[in-house]
Amino acid sequence: MMRRYKTIGHLQNRLEELRNEGKRIGFVPTMGALHMGHISLIKNSIETSDITICSIFVNPTQFNVKEDLDKYPRTVEQDAKVLEEAGCDILFLPTIDVIYPPDEDNSYQVDFGDLETVMEGAHRPGHFAGVAQVLKRFLSIIEPDAMYMGQKDYQQFTIVRALLKKLDSKTHLVMGETIREEDGLAMSSRNVRLKPQERSIAPLISKTLFDAKSKVGKKSISEIKKEALEQLDIPEFTIEYFEIADGITLQPISSFEGIETAVACTAVHLGAVRLIDNVVLI
Ligand code: AMP
Repeated sequence: MMRRYKTIGHLQNRLEELRNEGKRIGFVPTMGALHMGHISLIKNSIETSDITICSIFVNPTQFNVKEDLDKYPRTVEQDAKVLEEAGCDILFLPTIDVIYPPDEDNSYQVDFGDLETVMEGAHRPGHFAGVAQVLKRFLSIIEPDAMYMGQKDYQQFTIVRALLKKLDSKTHLVMGETIREEDGLAMSSRNVRLKPQERSIAPLISKTLFDAKSKVGKKSISEIKKEALEQLDIPEFTIEYFEIADGITLQPISSFEGIETAVACTAVHLGAVRLIDNVVLI
């Protein structure tokens, strides 16, 4: 049986019992409206940790657009069902007051340097500050041995790696591969907000990224980028960015020379929905 907790005290008592039994705790933070991308992280945790805890918390501080927060899908009972079926042990469902008690100062100022001045950081002011704030809080409550996050949010993963370092955290960060629909569209809680016609053209985003990957070694980065921007240039899309970046520093690169790993990342508006995706190129 999966146990549910809404408050910190009861959750921490249970976690202490489990730790005393020598169990390693794996943590999967989410904002709910769960899909197979989230469940694959749960499965990774089940495979490599003893106990899996999933949180569902739609964190207001990481939304830079109020409408996006208001329209964020909320499907907690359905989520609880799929988590239980997947074998999750604990579901943590805190309210806003539990995460940000009104009488406590949970603000957290942290400078991620150039990691946050590009791509998502440049286009969503305050977003990563909110992500860092909420994860710092969750990490202090749960103190997991491992935390599982998706490649789908590549820049977020990189920022969280830097956060764990800054916090001198013992939590091991594990990346889960991006899970896609059959037509290539990266799974996202926001996909349900796409109208049928929008949903049918959305796979052009991942197709463009995979096409870019297929050109590595054959074309220059500027050509690959130019062609990707042309592919995405359809009336339904408003392209926010398409970048080819160093996979570690996240800074744009103009050549693969001396680069250990590189990633193509994009953000596109389609109807009322903002979609992001990325593919590791080398
Ligand atoms: P979210 O609920 O959108 O905050 O996402 C919670 C976690 O699930 C984050 O670590 C995401 O990177 C991860 N995630 C979201 N979509 C996918 C996907 N399609 N494949 C794998 N992981 C994902």
